[in-house]
Amino acid sequence: MVCTSSERHTNYNFAAGPAMLPAEVLGQIREDLPDWCGSGFSILEQPFTSASFKRLMAETEELLRALLAIPCSYQVLFMQGGASAQFGLLPLNLLQPGQRADYLESGYWARKAIGEARRHCAVNIIASGAAQDFTALPPTAQWQLDPQAGYCHVTSNETGNGLQLHEFPELKVPLVADMTSDFLTRPLPLERFGLIYASAQKNLGVAGLCLVIIRNDLLRAPPPGLPAAFSYAMQAEQQSRFNTPPTFALYVTGLMLRWIRRNGGVPAMAAAAQQRSRLLYGCVDHSDFYQCPQFPADRSSINVCFQLTEPGLTDTFLTLAERNGLANLRGHAAIGGIRASLYNPMPLNGVARLVEFMTDFERKHG
Ligand code: PMP
Repeated sequence: MVCTSSERHTNYNFAAGPAMLPAEVLGQIREDLPDWCGSGFSILEQPFTSASFKRLMAETEELLRALLAIPCSYQVLFMQGGASAQFGLLPLNLLQPGQRADYLESGYWARKAIGEARRHCAVNIIASGAAQDFTALPPTAQWQLDPQAGYCHVTSNETGNGLQLHEFPELKVPLVADMTSDFLTRPLPLERFGLIYASAQKNLGVAGLCLVIIRNDLLRAPPPGLPAAFSYAMQAEQQSRFNTPPTFALYVTGLMLRWIRRNGGVPAMAAAAQQRSRLLYGCVDHSDFYQCPQFPADRSSINVCFQLTEPGLTDTFLTLAERNGLANLRGHAAIGGIRASLYNPMPLNGVARLVEFMTDFERKHG
């Protein structure tokens, strides 16, 4: 029964990020907040140089390496500044003076990455989905790669446009991927990548931490003008302790990695993502009241974006959804419509509740 009053059921948070965390993880944080591991102090008060915090960092890295089978030919870095800082740090760290970079223009976040890269280097757009208003991804066969490029950048999941790269090609130049919104939601052919980066606040924790996985041969001395704290080589050399790392965010990521391992690891996360997104796309596709303009083969299993065929009803939909405990469903500000972000912690029940609400809303307003 769908609620139309201010009465509330269990809430589900469909925010694009920071996103929901599993109840067990929130419970553990509550427990560790006054006294972490019998230290007599809060997790918030732990010096990053202490033996126990160094152990936490090492364990977090080991967990991540085990979940994704990351070989020792790659470094794992814990950085700050979010994925947005990485947009500028990639050309500064990876390119030789005068070298160009390839970029796939797949949507809102790829455009952000391109805009920032252009401040530091010449960018070659290998292919663009702009002509289709970013409702489809340009096929790999159409990519116009520059063999001299320092790297080729892709956005594995376009959080705002609801598009996801389902295959990663083998390239001659290092493949660099912004995986902020789908990191740890599916197994990866890691050996195809030179570098992967992902902010933590969607699938693996809270804001403040950005993970960087970089192949050893891409590490080089910081070029002039690059702050040492933002040099991959410097952070790798100092085990991400060149300066104070985001300690609380790191701790939460450790808890999230354990939660992912307990729940079957990355293959189980991928299966759950498929189940959730199929249920929701099924509801949208079986109705004339809702529509998803994204090309089916390129749809994201993480950020499901759709519209009401009567856009004037969008605000009513969102208000009633919120009253029914289905929160933060508004589409990206630049794109509009509805967006349900289905990150790792989202239970299938949350999507079932959303589908029930959508069916009821259509019955009443369709
Ligand atoms: N890339 C993608 C794909 C994103 O979804 C986001 C955040 N929504 C960002 C980059 C920016 O991340 P941050 O806010 O951590 O800089």
